[in-house]
Amino acid sequence: MILNEETTFYKVCFDSMQAGIIVFDDKMNIVLANQPVSEIFEYKKSVVGKNLRLLLKNDTLLTEFLENPTTDTFKTTKEIIGIKNNGEEIYLEVSFGKLEYENKFYYKLLLTDINERKKKEKEINALNVQLEEEVKLSNKELQKVIEQLKISLNKEKELNILKTKFIALASHEFKTPLSAILSSTELMAKYTELENVEKQREHLQKVKIMIARLNGMLDNLLTLENIEAGEVKPTYKLVDFKNLMEEVLHNTKPLLKKDQVLSIENTSTEKFYQDPRIIKIILNNILNNAIKYSENESQITVSLKSNKQNLYMSIKDNGIGIPLNEQNLIFNRFFRAKNALYYPGTGIGLNIVKGYVDSLKGTVSFKSTENNGTVFNVQLPKINSHEKKGTVN
Ligand code: ADP
Repeated sequence: MILNEETTFYKVCFDSMQAGIIVFDDKMNIVLANQPVSEIFEYKKSVVGKNLRLLLKNDTLLTEFLENPTTDTFKTTKEIIGIKNNGEEIYLEVSFGKLEYENKFYYKLLLTDINERKKKEKEINALNVQLEEEVKLSNKELQKVIEQLKISLNKEKELNILKTKFIALASHEFKTPLSAILSSTELMAKYTELENVEKQREHLQKVKIMIARLNGMLDNLLTLENIEAGEVKPTYKLVDFKNLMEEVLHNTKPLLKKDQVLSIENTSTEKFYQDPRIIKIILNNILNNAIKYSENESQITVSLKSNKQNLYMSIKDNGIGIPLNEQNLIFNRFFRAKNALYYPGTGIGLNIVKGYVDSLKGTVSFKSTENNGTVFNVQLPKINSHEKKGTVN
């Protein structure tokens, strides 16, 4: 091959390479560049004669290389941002080297267009970030669902334990009134034959008491379940307090023991918004206890007061009282004071009272002296018109 042909051959090779090759001097002036360089930077003509800095976004790497052109660091590829003829940025992979020609030093720059790859990488990164976020989010949601499931599972478990405990307690409590009803009805039949009306009435009264007790226990069981399941939402209605009290007394009177007197002081005739169903349950429980834990011929007094904001109810008895050292436990579920164990009961009534009073945003407290009697005080707020909105039936 003659020299001329050889040069042409090298030029063809030089231009048909995939990578761009730039040779520049120590002023960063380009002295040689192959065809791919023009293609990468979108120049119609060769870039020879231009300053290399024109093709790069910044010359930090270039300067670093020129300060120390023989280190191996620049032989390995690095990423750099180039500037195309139209001003657009383009990602490039570059490596540098030093060369000598006719006793002069030059520098070579090998560059590859990695714009597409970079774009894809960016897209993948963005997707990864998005995916991570989504995974984080769904993990969070999953965690939330798991937490909620755990809570409801625990609630369900507690509820089951509670039910089992209550049923164990109540089944004994149910048996007593049921067998009392049975024997009373048998005796009633006998006294009918003997035409003893007085005795018949006595046993009829006993049957009524036992039925009221059974009713109260069932009410409490259902109530307890609702409280436990967090399903207590007051339904505010216009309460006619006089009617409400009459209803409570009507239900309670059959439970009164021989010559027990139940009196009401300061009957309120006013009407206000509250949840009458819940008030009835609260009053029934406290009143039933007052009757149960005091003896024949004793006095029970219910007094009612109210002001603009609140309703105050107090139920006083002269019964067995609550021992001082047990008074702080009295609202605990299933708790029964030692002196109460001779009387029927399950220890859930006051727990329900507390739960309900709380749901009505009221307070319940008591004062008691053992063997001397107890007074329970309940304070309930009267609901004003904007609070009752949406909940009034
Ligand atoms: P129960 O009456 O079924 O045992 P409660 O929850 O209604 O359950 O009451 C809890 C306990 O509080 C009773 O067992 C009793 O020791 C005490 N107690 C409640 N009310 C009175 C009262 N009026 N007099 C004396 N003790 C009472």
